[in-house]
Amino acid sequence: MSDSYKIVLDEKELPKAWYNVLPDLPEPLAPPLNPQTGQPVSPDDLKPIFPDELIMQEVSQDRWIEIPSEVLDIYKLWRPTPLIRARRLEKALGTPARMYYKNEGVSPPGSHKPNTAVAQAYYNKKAGVNKLTTETGAGQWGSALSFACSLFDMHCTVYMVKVSYNQKPYRRILMHIWGGEVYPSPTDRTNAGRAILEKNPDSMGSLGIAISEAVEDAATHEDTNYALGSVLNHVLLHQTVIGLETKRQLELVEDKADVIVGCVGGGSNFGGMILPFVKDKIDGKHDIDIIAIEPKSCPTLTKGLYQYDYGDTAGMTPLMLMYTLGHTFEPPGIHAGGLRYHGDAPILCNLVKNGVVSPKAYTQNPVFEAAVLFARTEGIVPAPETSHALRGWIDEALKCKETGEEKAIVCCFSGHGHFDLAAYDDYLEGRLEDYEYPEDKIAEALKDLPKFPTGL
Ligand SMILES: *Cc1c(COP(=O)(O)O)cnc(C)c1O
Repeated sequence: MSDSYKIVLDEKELPKAWYNVLPDLPEPLAPPLNPQTGQPVSPDDLKPIFPDELIMQEVSQDRWIEIPSEVLDIYKLWRPTPLIRARRLEKALGTPARMYYKNEGVSPPGSHKPNTAVAQAYYNKKAGVNKLTTETGAGQWGSALSFACSLFDMHCTVYMVKVSYNQKPYRRILMHIWGGEVYPSPTDRTNAGRAILEKNPDSMGSLGIAISEAVEDAATHEDTNYALGSVLNHVLLHQTVIGLETKRQLELVEDKADVIVGCVGGGSNFGGMILPFVKDKIDGKHDIDIIAIEPKSCPTLTKGLYQYDYGDTAGMTPLMLMYTLGHTFEPPGIHAGGLRYHGDAPILCNLVKNGVVSPKAYTQNPVFEAAVLFARTEGIVPAPETSHALRGWIDEALKCKETGEEKAIVCCFSGHGHFDLAAYDDYLEGRLEDYEYPEDKIAEALKDLPKFPTGL
């Protein structure tokens, strides 16, 4: 076994194709349903908001999809990303485990999100579309898409959840630097936004509301398409560069993952990391624990129902079969804004349902405790979202300390937290609340679930 800290790949070793898990899932993915007819969505239904190539990727049964050279050229600005053996953290914990983290925080916007933002901007540009709309929670996705659009000389409109717009001015400024146009959602620019404001003029917004606004904007403007930063099959597909590189990096140091841990908001960084490993697990070739971490305040995988539900609050998007807390659920304002979504990627939910992935939830304080320990040993200040993964990763290493097992535990480090310092201030000053599972609010939102059958 190698004694390296940083396991780096040469630019020439960038994956040349994304891995598509659809033909390899334990059970076929249930189709998304048209919200008006309740029938499976046809590619034509998606044409007003997505370009053909992304619609094809959404349903493709090809195991490998070539990465266009224009996208590879941009990936080279920061990829391949390093896999790092966290030796100082191992020592601080006194664990016999080998702890690795894949650092996606080295991209220009600071997270894994440009892996798909660049691909989506590229396919839209190629289809002759020069304007994209999107939503953003904490601002990570909005900044990634603004960055990608600037590289392709495209226009980007971002509906940013109001609570984050007020709390996180630096991400908004970052979007402005890359030429993005940013509005605090709910806005009075769309029917969906106006309807929310009428009911509650003080609404602080939610990701579901912002999605409704961005989709409506794209659907009602001929020259404009929509881009989603997580959840959809093509997004997880683009993120598989993370897991493909990690596999190769572990081979280089002659190691093999026993456990993989990641955080889940919609499931894209986690999916990107784990999907290249799941086929071997499903085929019984690689015994590996795969653990998805989410916040206790928005416990989609651990407390949600496996049901068809809308992707947005207004009920405009197709219905997807997924674990959901109900599309009207507005989670408490925790600092991990990127983990406050009511649903999760259908691919990931399929894997949880079939026992390939095990979910686990934490409250904020133990999460920030892990983040600070990480910053004090490995040096990097993690995003609050990423810190959820770190908590799960550290707890797995502490288990090894008890049992003496020398496992290799891999964590997807989804992004840095340089724009989240106010959250750290709250933690260090003892101002963070440990929201437990908001049972009443979830029960109320689950009453609004549309009545469609589970698993057609
Ligand atoms: C957006 C984001 C997440 C959550 O989104 P996923 O689609 O679940 O990956 C996690 N970490 C960071 C740093 C993010 O920006």
